[in-house]
Amino acid sequence: MKNIAVFTSGGDSPGMNACIRAVVRTGLHMGLKVFGIRNGYEGMIDGEIFEMNAHSVSGIIQQGGTILRSARSPRFMTQEGRKRAASNLREQGIEGLVAIGGDGTFTGANVFLGEFPEFSIMGAPGTIDNDLFGTDYTIGYDTAINTAMAAIDNIKDTANAHSRLFFVEVMGRDAGFIALRSAISTGAEAVLIPESKTNVQSLIDTLKDSHSNKKNASIVIVAEGDDAGGAFEIADLVKQHIDYRDVRVTILGHVQRGGRPTCMERVRASQMGVSAVRALLDGESGKMVGIVHRDITYTPFEQAIKHHEEINPALVELVEILG
Ligand code: ATP
Repeated sequence: MKNIAVFTSGGDSPGMNACIRAVVRTGLHMGLKVFGIRNGYEGMIDGEIFEMNAHSVSGIIQQGGTILRSARSPRFMTQEGRKRAASNLREQGIEGLVAIGGDGTFTGANVFLGEFPEFSIMGAPGTIDNDLFGTDYTIGYDTAINTAMAAIDNIKDTANAHSRLFFVEVMGRDAGFIALRSAISTGAEAVLIPESKTNVQSLIDTLKDSHSNKKNASIVIVAEGDDAGGAFEIADLVKQHIDYRDVRVTILGHVQRGGRPTCMERVRASQMGVSAVRALLDGESGKMVGIVHRDITYTPFEQAIKHHEEINPALVELVEILG
């Protein structure tokens, strides 16, 4: 293998740049030509492919977002789009790819490999959701939970000053990892996540208990994909039963996606980038690099996307005991 390419796809996440940098510098270190593809699969179809050097990735390790930009690409869902992408890659002599993205990105990579097995693709898990099977951490997760924690700390100050009940909605359409870690780290009263059925009555009871225990203010963390609805809907239901507190709602939204990656994010993203290139050179393909108990692992795309990493029930219990 002489030429490889790297791209970022789907939702961006802090730490993607550290991973791009690791892929480029490792590739160059191993004597390969390294290309960058702009705008994920869209750029692959449009031929937005350019050669990178060590300088192309200077000064980016500390930046959120992705210098290669990212996109959702409906055209890559079509055979015609994937054909064009393959032909653009062939034109540059690219044989190996590192795809940094989430489950959609790996689904696309798998379909592509089924049609064009002459290419090799390794994935690096880039998503703030931490929902991929086969890794303890995805790139962006650590930064997102720290951003959420800092924002909720700020909300807590004002909640205490006015004895308010706040519902704070964090990202997580299908996964409650961000919500759970945010809840534990900010001392929230309760956390509502998509993985478990929400019982609004028991939430009301918990909040009433904490009021009778003379708690000054309360915070409830809601994952955006919770089965009982979003933070506004749940707050409306609870409001009807709690008249002793002013109830407020904050949706954290996209602030959780941006920002300077944490130290651990940069280190893990670098490890994953280096390992992805090494795996390509070892003849691996169709697998996602992960870190499990400090070890680098390789999980076939089908497994990484099919299984949802499970929520640790002991952590849910922590919120109940400590909140
Ligand atoms: P995030 O977890 O942050 O949403 P993601 O990688 O899951 O990131 P998606 O938008 O779901 O983001 O997927 C990225 C791209 O992968 C899609 O825009 C599409 O181009 C491609 N893709 C997803 N599913 C398929 C598929 N079944 N066939 C071909 N391409 C696909």
